[in-house]
Amino acid sequence: MREIDINNLLRENIKNIKAYSSARDEYKDASIDMVFIDANENPFQTNVNRYPDPQQSKVKERLAEIKGVSASQMLLGNGSDEVLDLLFRAFCEPKQDNVITLPPTYGMYKVLADLNAIEVKQVLLDENFEPKVIEVLEAQNDNSKILFLCSPNNPTANSFNANKIEQLLSEFKGIVVIDEAYIDFSKQESWLSRLNDFPNLIVTQTLSKAYGLAGIRLGICYASEYIISVLNKIKPPYNVNQLTQDKALERLTSLDLVNQEVDTILNKRKQLTEQLSSITFIKTIYPSDANFVLAKVDDANKRYSQLIEKGIVVRNRTTQALCENCLRFTVGTAEENKILIKTLNQL
Ligand SMILES: *Cc1c(COP(=O)(O)O)cnc(C)c1O
Repeated sequence: MREIDINNLLRENIKNIKAYSSARDEYKDASIDMVFIDANENPFQTNVNRYPDPQQSKVKERLAEIKGVSASQMLLGNGSDEVLDLLFRAFCEPKQDNVITLPPTYGMYKVLADLNAIEVKQVLLDENFEPKVIEVLEAQNDNSKILFLCSPNNPTANSFNANKIEQLLSEFKGIVVIDEAYIDFSKQESWLSRLNDFPNLIVTQTLSKAYGLAGIRLGICYASEYIISVLNKIKPPYNVNQLTQDKALERLTSLDLVNQEVDTILNKRKQLTEQLSSITFIKTIYPSDANFVLAKVDDANKRYSQLIEKGIVVRNRTTQALCENCLRFTVGTAEENKILIKTLNQL
């Protein structure tokens, strides 16, 4: 196991912070029926008149079964966005610390850094969309608190080479966040199994993509018990609402259905990739380990506008580093993919 003192990476104000003690924290497991007149709730039933479980225990128990990670190594948030924001607030001192990102990648790392007044050091991926390990390690200084690795990466769709990730986990002096939003579409193994080898490893996942629940906003952070205990102190007490917890639990108990849908999406991805490759103005289709495909076209701005005119919205990534003239296509239903291909053929 790697030796690293996580406490040294925390912000000073976070080290000794006391969590808000919510009304319901202490008695939720009581076996007798208790009278709850402690939280100024409305006593009349609406199904959601009570505050939700601040620890989302049922959802975590189910996730623990599925993922093989202890519930004490999880923190749930209002989407990955909240989880990532909590990491900035725990580790990054505004106007002093920095984080490292590897563009082209997910835009929220930079947005959250700007919001928290944290400098972003950007080290571009190489021409195969892989991390330049030496350059990343050279870019870090004493104030580099977090390195964001998105694998499979958005928008490039590839997973990073496992040896490169391992080397970064071993040698980066701060926290390494591996964003696995697309892991359920990937052939690569999740880094969850290495959580206990690297105390500086944080894995984030989400129910927004493979689980089909973008609308409920549920993001998951997996880390050491110590890191989770710190995040628990600073998260808003009731950050995951009751409706979200209920829906998440329901979906996590229908894993067969989720897996079937993922299989279908992977088949459709293969089909879509083949069909896209016969379109004359599509120059390159990058291999995908996710539920979308990145393709280089002759003129991304022109093709993007033409598609909009036909009522099809894709993602134009042409302004991103290394993504000149690239469009990103999400794998849709059979019908949606058919409309896309038909329309592309007509342009
Ligand atoms: C879609 C996506 C997420 C999901 O964010 P949520 O807030 O959980 O919906 C996270 N990371 C990446 C890279 C994504 O593309």
